[in-house]
Amino acid sequence: MSQEPRIAVITGAAQGIGRAIALRLADDGIDVAVNDIPSNEKKLLEVVAEIQAKGRRSIPLIGDVAVEGEVRGFIEQTVSDLGGIDIMVANAGIARSVELIDMSVEDWDCMISVNLRGVMLCYKYAAQQMIKQGRGGRILGASSILGKKGAMTFSSYCATKFAVRGLTQSLALEVSKHNITVNAYCPGLIHTSMTSASTSGQSTDQHGNAVLPVPPSMPGAGPEVIASIVSYLVKPEAYFITGQSIDVNGGRYMS
Ligand code: NAD
Repeated sequence: MSQEPRIAVITGAAQGIGRAIALRLADDGIDVAVNDIPSNEKKLLEVVAEIQAKGRRSIPLIGDVAVEGEVRGFIEQTVSDLGGIDIMVANAGIARSVELIDMSVEDWDCMISVNLRGVMLCYKYAAQQMIKQGRGGRILGASSILGKKGAMTFSSYCATKFAVRGLTQSLALEVSKHNITVNAYCPGLIHTSMTSASTSGQSTDQHGNAVLPVPPSMPGAGPEVIASIVSYLVKPEAYFITGQSIDVNGGRYMS
């Protein structure tokens, strides 16, 4: 991409990491379409208003990333309302804690449909549109520290986050000739609703230390540390970084 990107789509952006990325890209001068599910519409509209208050254009895309027709619709609406798409951040995800021996097929299918099919659909329809526009692009997906290392009670989540890395590497090879880069971010323990709700009564840090321990001196972090790396990866100067799954975890795991 030789010019500054202008228009982004971010999924799962009503709260947490997605919201932080949306606000950061707006600060960077980018117009942002934000997606989330209907039950989070109120919070999503607040994010739209925050982006508009920064002087950028923003639209809400209400719907489910696991449904093909809805993802196709997000892209069509963004192109028609904002004029194209330069950046896709496939951030939406869910986490559930259950031992594999107790996992139902329904639990498994739910995890796969949001965390993996959802990312595939966002990658596919964003890449198609970027290729059509012919001005390059940036595609990013949410993997995880648990996309690099297994963890007790998180087998299905780990499976999806490992798979996002494979998807990211393969698409990066397929679209490099169109000046589109594809990367994943791998957060460690970030303070959001996902981590505070993920286990039985434990605090975020207690939970993180049970899954992947760190020395007590290691700092905690909020979603802004992920927004910061995304802000860099979408810039034209990051053209030489593609197919990577980048760790942002305060040293909790070193690959
Ligand atoms: P979060 O739960 O705070 O936010 C996730 C958002 O995704 C929510 O707003 C939710 O409504 C939305 N969402 C869920 N299912 C959806 C669907 N089917 N369609 C559209 N939107 C949907 O979580 P977060 O901590 O901000 O996590 C964001 C991403 O980062 C996720 O993919 C998560 O797996 C990943 N991640 C988070 C952490 C962490 O420590 N918080 C660590 C590693 C990876």
